[in-house]
Amino acid sequence: MSTDFERMLSDMRYTIPDYYQHFRCAADRCEDTCCAGWQIAIDGRSLRRYARIRGRMGRKLRKSIHWNRAVFRQKEGKRCAFLDEDNLCHMYAELGKNSLCRTCRLYPRHIEEFEGVREITLSLSCPAVAKILMNRREPVAYLSYEKEGEESYGDFDLLLYSVLADAREVVLDLLKNRALPVEQREEQMLSLADAVQKRHTDGMLFSCQELFCAYGNGEGTLAAAWEADGRRIRARLPFMMKLFSCLDTLELLLEDWKNCLDETRAFLHMGTADSYAGICLEFGTWLKERMPEWEIQAEQLLVYFIFTYFCGAAYDGRISAKAKLAAVSRMVIEEMLMARWMKNEKMLDSEDVIETVYRYSREIEHSDKNLERMERIMEIVPANLTSYVSGFVPPYTV
Ligand code: SF4
Repeated sequence: MSTDFERMLSDMRYTIPDYYQHFRCAADRCEDTCCAGWQIAIDGRSLRRYARIRGRMGRKLRKSIHWNRAVFRQKEGKRCAFLDEDNLCHMYAELGKNSLCRTCRLYPRHIEEFEGVREITLSLSCPAVAKILMNRREPVAYLSYEKEGEESYGDFDLLLYSVLADAREVVLDLLKNRALPVEQREEQMLSLADAVQKRHTDGMLFSCQELFCAYGNGEGTLAAAWEADGRRIRARLPFMMKLFSCLDTLELLLEDWKNCLDETRAFLHMGTADSYAGICLEFGTWLKERMPEWEIQAEQLLVYFIFTYFCGAAYDGRISAKAKLAAVSRMVIEEMLMARWMKNEKMLDSEDVIETVYRYSREIEHSDKNLERMERIMEIVPANLTSYVSGFVPPYTV
């Protein structure tokens, strides 16, 4: 018998990352929980079903739901009313898996829909997913399945979507080219997205194919010079300080996130430009020698953010902003890791990376308001500035 989730996928082409089948919920062994920190929205069908349940669970449901807002009530610590002390779902235990609302059934799956296409990723906000991706050494591939029949999306911009889908393929290939340092691959990504954005604005999307050929042949770069000296690092400090001030203005999902931001600032942003540059250089060298896998983890993060969000520009036209958000997400995670490295007396391990990744993803990706605000901020940040400040381990090979 097919599940709701499988039925929902029928009659479409859908795409999943190749590590999709490896996901297993850690349940009560999870180091965190997906049932605290954010409001869980209940779909109409589940809400109607919950209203019909009688007896003890019916009474509990009636008390535990904000019926007019269609969300579960929360206990202290923004924990879902159904989450018990062992971090297990009381509803699941009492009524079984099928009783869960759509949000809980799907999490950590994230679905982006386009005409005839559903793209499913696993959200990095789940520690089990962050662990899979951060421990993975091979490049990620995406698998597609075709099914008959499509939904109609009215005035969906099919031309823009198909250009974006082609651009994303080129960008993913660029990002997975391990012959180059990851910051340089990131620069190519920013540059290509910037060029597609300009063509979109000028109504010249039809000329993108030659652009894709040029980038595919390794010819595209941004105007910003690759300078293997300390100037890039000095430019990074004011950039990061501004970025962290922007992060302060976002909707706060978990109180502890504010401490993470403050801690990063305290360890890195309170000194002079020279002291910051010194820390960056030392940390960059330490990463190269002691945690070379960061280069691969950074690639996995960029690939994740690009695959998940880039084609969403078919709805809002923010092509370059989505690429910049991928780069900035990697940089913020890296900055927080650098602060943690300072705090841990110049040590880091894979647990630090996994925790930082899923904490960032929870705050930024699980609030539509935050994603929207970050993309709007990215619209005013020049692509070449983002690229210019992205790396701190000279010299680069160009
Ligand atoms: S965060 Fe992920 S691993 Fe943890 S309980 Fe939720 S789905 Fe399971």
